[in-house]
Amino acid sequence: MSATVLEIKPVQAIPDFLIGEMRAKMAYVDEAVAGAQVALAGNLITLQLKRALGESEQALIEQKVQRVVVAMVKGAFKLKVQVLEDFLDRPVLSAVAEDPTNTLLARGELSREATGIYVLGPLLTRLVAFFEHQFVDLASSFQAEPYRFPTLIPARYLERVDYFSAFPHSLTFATHLRSDLDVIDHFASHAACDEHGLTTSMESFSGVETLLSPAVCYHLYFSLADRPLPSGQVVATAVGNCFRYESTNLTSLERMWNFTMREIIFVGPKDFVLANRETARQRMSEKFAGIGLAYRVESANDPFFIGEFKKQAAFQSAFQLKYEIRARLPFKDSTLAVGSYNYHQDFFGRKLNMTLPDGSPAHTGCVAFGLERMAYAFLSQFGLDPAAWPEQVRRAIA
Ligand code: AMP
Ligand code: ZN
Repeated sequence: MSATVLEIKPVQAIPDFLIGEMRAKMAYVDEAVAGAQVALAGNLITLQLKRALGESEQALIEQKVQRVVVAMVKGAFKLKVQVLEDFLDRPVLSAVAEDPTNTLLARGELSREATGIYVLGPLLTRLVAFFEHQFVDLASSFQAEPYRFPTLIPARYLERVDYFSAFPHSLTFATHLRSDLDVIDHFASHAACDEHGLTTSMESFSGVETLLSPAVCYHLYFSLADRPLPSGQVVATAVGNCFRYESTNLTSLERMWNFTMREIIFVGPKDFVLANRETARQRMSEKFAGIGLAYRVESANDPFFIGEFKKQAAFQSAFQLKYEIRARLPFKDSTLAVGSYNYHQDFFGRKLNMTLPDGSPAHTGCVAFGLERMAYAFLSQFGLDPAAWPEQVRRAIA
């Protein structure tokens, strides 16, 4: 029988600490999947399908789901969450009752160009500028050197740092028409779009030499690659567009395909990187207190793809490599990562041959803030009426 909803009993029960991650990974199982739920008991996965599928197609999807289940669950153990700061109970008296995305869209403060791609109107733009000011101020306190990085990143670069095996699902590829007069002429006179985008045949496009950049700090590491660090250590800052394709998880301003990040980046000896990461956290803590943001800072892991997830997440946890600033979203009684404090050990130093004066590989770390998410979490806590905002923010955007 054909069906538009698929209920699958996982071959192994999904432990509670993996339920969110499992649900997110379902978006990448099959193009027919429109949405997914995982029962709290971990014994049922429900997939909504974009169209009715016959039994053989259902069976193929179920096989893929079970592959994900086995890869994610087998041998997985609950990672200890370490909380460095907890200010989740700060009062949020003017919090909005529901997701502000819809209200912002209705007011024209936000417009959606396509899945995960948004135009921010004046209110959000001013809020982003306010937060940018805070982060640039933090960067200045470290005398960080300013940089401007491109939006495109060479495929070779990402290959060199194993990005393709860690995050293949979220890559965005850039291409262009082949430099062939016939191809270009044909495109010029026939290019058209249907509901899936351009109808142009894939043969018209070049091979993929570049991608849209998934992070800011990589560009700095590549610019420092294959030589000794000029003065043994670097502190840099930059803001940039980042791209992470998150499929059907791209449902609101909470999760975007194209978003912007401000990073402060430390390169040097281990102690230098770790001490600066910690100082950055403490300085940010004061800034968040001034604003009155409700959040906490806790250990976290990156959303590695299925095969890499268990091993990499456990590694990040064991070595305390990643902490997230998770702001409260009162309307859904949940939290959202608005930034992260990261330490990569000497991973980039080794992969990119960035060396310290003694010849050993450099260590790196970065502090990264998602600008749209900062504004989104702020509006969720303080509401859409600036009259109810903290004095400091109101003054800055006036
Ligand atoms: P990460 O490097 O994954 O720690 O990302 C740094 C910050 O970028 C996160 O804390 C978020 O604030 C933001 N960010 C990451 N992915 C997205 C996304 N898909 N949409 C919007 N913001 C994002
Ligand atoms: Zn970074």
